[in-house]
Amino acid sequence: MASGDKSMIGRARGGSEGVGMTSRRTRERLVEAIAAQGVNDARVLDALREVPRHLFIDEALQSRAYDNTPLPIGHGQTISQPWVVARMSELLLEPGVPERVLEIGTGSGYQAAILAHLVPQVYTVERIGALVPQARQRLRQARLYNVHIRHGDGYQGWPEYSPYDGIILTAAPHSIPEPLLDQLAVGGRMVAPIGGAGYQELLVIDKTAEGIEQHRAAGVTFVPMVHGRG
Ligand code: SAH
Repeated sequence: MASGDKSMIGRARGGSEGVGMTSRRTRERLVEAIAAQGVNDARVLDALREVPRHLFIDEALQSRAYDNTPLPIGHGQTISQPWVVARMSELLLEPGVPERVLEIGTGSGYQAAILAHLVPQVYTVERIGALVPQARQRLRQARLYNVHIRHGDGYQGWPEYSPYDGIILTAAPHSIPEPLLDQLAVGGRMVAPIGGAGYQELLVIDKTAEGIEQHRAAGVTFVPMVHGRG
């Protein structure tokens, strides 16, 4: 685990403050709602304050950017509910700040942007080709340069940069994909929704020298993880 070198961690500045429905005050109300739902980690709450969620959402839906709900991002996919993004980030940081995190399911890039504020390097894999350049552009707009995006099948992970100290799944498989467990470092943690369409268990999986330990953190609803590139 790294100490979390701040100099390597991107910061969102300029051009992204927003006005009215997307203002800093609107964002602060969302942060307060998430804290009231039990997310205590100040680093995570700060990241939520910093990242302009409206940048990761189509213009037509921007007035709802700071509602605590998932929203459509096209291609039948959704940007996750802010509470879920916050809770998963908090769980990932619990054992210590991971040096490198792998995310499966880049989608809009919002979860990756939150992670970019919290850890030195974020690697993220998305299976739908059209979402990749869009997420890249949004992360650049948010001035975040420590996120690396790959168009690929997340069931295979991203072996080149493994092992990862943290792995987060934002699409749900029926069971934990073996290649992802292989790419998790000893001492590392995976946070993953596991189950069928409509309802999954959010599992926290710790890889220790003795083996795998897991516990259930919440009931959640994610889009299913789909095999192959789209
Ligand atoms: N983290 C995203 C959530 C997007 S929804 C955000 O913050 O916006 C889940 C995403 O997972 C979708 O974009 C979907 O295309 C992607 N996905 C589903 N199966 C996948 C797979 N096997 N590999 C990579 N991405 C996958």
